[in-house]
Amino acid sequence: MAEETIFSKIIRHEIPSDIVYQDDMVTAFRDISPKAKVHILIIPNKVIPSVNEIEEEDEKVIGHLFTVARKVAQMEGIAQDGYRLIFNCGKNGGQEVPHLHMHLLGGEQLRGFGF
Ligand code: 5GP
Repeated sequence: MAEETIFSKIIRHEIPSDIVYQDDMVTAFRDISPKAKVHILIIPNKVIPSVNEIEEEDEKVIGHLFTVARKVAQMEGIAQDGYRLIFNCGKNGGQEVPHLHMHLLGGEQLRGFGF
């Protein structure tokens, strides 16, 4: 089994975080160091370290990340004006936490990919 990170503690509510949505498959919470007015991380509850470790059996939860991104964007009032979804993968992708996460960024005009 893949090693846990601080994100597993967030999923289990063992450390404080601002969770905006949670169900049996995924958890969405505000990034501790926001890069936009709205910056939310949406993660599978199961530890998948990165896109490199996604298996076919994970396709349901990966798809669910996008459904939840749509719901959270609506809840945050940013769906109409648009937003950006990002997965960083590995060292060159700038991934710091080895627990797969989707960044949901919005609430303002985003420029370039200087993330
Ligand atoms: P990465 O660079 O791995 O794609 O993104 C990791 C993100 O997790 C960063 O944007 C960072 O600010 C955020 N992050 C790291 N540790 C914590 C934490 O303990 N709580 C929260 N809410 N966000 C975190």
